[in-house]
Amino acid sequence: MYRTHTNGELRIEDKNKTVTLAGWVQKTRNKGFMVWVDLRDRYGITQLIFDEERTSEEILETVSKLGREFVIQVTGTVIKRESKNPDIPTGDIEILVSEITILNESLTPPFTIEDNTDGGEELRMKYRYLDIRRNPVRENLVFRHKVTMAVRSYLSNEGFIEIETPYLIKSTPEGARDFVVPSRVNKGQFYALPQSPQTFKQLLMVGGMDKYFQIVKCFRDEDLRADRQPEFTQIDCEMAFVEQDDILNTFEGLIRHLLKEIKGVEIGEFPKMTYDEAMQRYGTDKPDIRFGMELGELNAVIQHKDFNVFNQAELVVGIAIPGGNSFSRKEIDKLIDWVKRPQVGALGMVYCRCNMDGSYKSSVDKFYDQKDFAQWAQVTGAQKGDLICILSGETSKVRTQLSALRMELAETLGLRNPDEFAPLWVIDFPLLEWDEETKRYHAMHHPFTSPRPGQMELLKTNPGDVKANAYDLVLNGNEIGGGSIRIHKKETQAKMFDYLGFTPEEAKAQFGFLMDAFQYGAPPHGGIAFGLDRLVAILGGQETIRDFIAFPKNNSGRDVMIDAPAAIDQTQLDELNLQLRIKP
Ligand code: ASP
Repeated sequence: MYRTHTNGELRIEDKNKTVTLAGWVQKTRNKGFMVWVDLRDRYGITQLIFDEERTSEEILETVSKLGREFVIQVTGTVIKRESKNPDIPTGDIEILVSEITILNESLTPPFTIEDNTDGGEELRMKYRYLDIRRNPVRENLVFRHKVTMAVRSYLSNEGFIEIETPYLIKSTPEGARDFVVPSRVNKGQFYALPQSPQTFKQLLMVGGMDKYFQIVKCFRDEDLRADRQPEFTQIDCEMAFVEQDDILNTFEGLIRHLLKEIKGVEIGEFPKMTYDEAMQRYGTDKPDIRFGMELGELNAVIQHKDFNVFNQAELVVGIAIPGGNSFSRKEIDKLIDWVKRPQVGALGMVYCRCNMDGSYKSSVDKFYDQKDFAQWAQVTGAQKGDLICILSGETSKVRTQLSALRMELAETLGLRNPDEFAPLWVIDFPLLEWDEETKRYHAMHHPFTSPRPGQMELLKTNPGDVKANAYDLVLNGNEIGGGSIRIHKKETQAKMFDYLGFTPEEAKAQFGFLMDAFQYGAPPHGGIAFGLDRLVAILGGQETIRDFIAFPKNNSGRDVMIDAPAAIDQTQLDELNLQLRIKP
């Protein structure tokens, strides 16, 4: 037996017991006549003691060879500790060691295995197995396990069946780019890794499974963006014989359950907001509603003077920064520089200080008077002591820019409290999205999403106005889930492909299997998928998903530990009948 107890287990009640422990050497303190070793495993740390009087020469000899992260096994007696350590649960005891075995040696780790390590991100990723020995990383992985278990138990109790769907499927051009896998036995042909199990879960509904879920890896070969992973995990769900409200109720229940189980937070009914309203009030379809600073549209009270920048703009819109009048001129200039960064893209920013005496001072005093400013304050909800920040330009751009500023300011002003949870449903998304590059409409969610009841006809005349029977769950400014009620009739699906610019041949080649299935009694159905990585991170009070993934890829999509992606050798290429045109 390697151990009788773990290193987090022994207490003063265990005094005088003979125990065997195993683990890693966290640290050694050598006072000459006395040596202490902190022995660590997943469960905690137990202190071992060796001294000249009570410990044999032979053991002391072995102890002198120990280095950090050596794996050892010891047998000894639990004794009361002279100087207690109130910081750890085993702090009242130590082990007087009578036997020691070095199970394995260790090189000196390239960074310290401490909560606050001296290792940088890249180094820690290269030696991720050492990083995982650190408390914060290990705790995040344990936390993820807890969330996953709570998801499984909730959905299973609600009658959902977890079913696996294939990873080797067929490439489709819609959506993001696919990762492809060459087939050796079918020369010149490729599988694709699923971007989501979308069509399979719909086929499971045709198969009568009624309530499906799967905690599943999805793969998207997207251009790299901060905190995106090429492979990520979804809680993927589908139900038959449901309308939008059935889905919202079921999955609101799931999130409520998680918040209660994991965080001890009870939340009432989630608010619902239409996409249009979210865009107008917050400038984004994933608003963080933990704080105010809503967008105030100023056109009506700002376009009557000689200020051409505003007069020519499609939208002039502002927010009030609480207490922002205390910002120095320099700080305001910094904000202006911030919105002008290419990532945000504003051309400039007008501001207006709301003084405590009720007067105003703006950067456009030449054009406007105190009466104007009072109206701006009213529209943006600015109080005395606030600062109004105003952007102008093309509606969709300007909203996005101001939303970015709103989030940035909320972050610096500490308004994004990680212990507060503010979920909401965003509904009535547009069905289609205009793509400037290809000059045609794309499905905003995916081509299997149905329009809101009664809107199919509008597709012919005003495609951009058609609302989808689609919904997102937003939590603290993050989209954590999204789904839709699907099309379940062959003719409707065929029409939709037609509107999306597929020829009947293309539609048949790519999605014929689905439309065929719809001919055999497909029930009305709908579903949703949640991003597990992000959900776990937010519940954990953080927003970096990498911290909750055991072996994540870096920002360039690389696994620096196993050094992937990598070239493959010529024999492999030959076997696959592939020829490289680029030099590896
Ligand atoms: N498959 C969709 C996605 O991955 C979610 C859904 O519609 O259920 O975004």
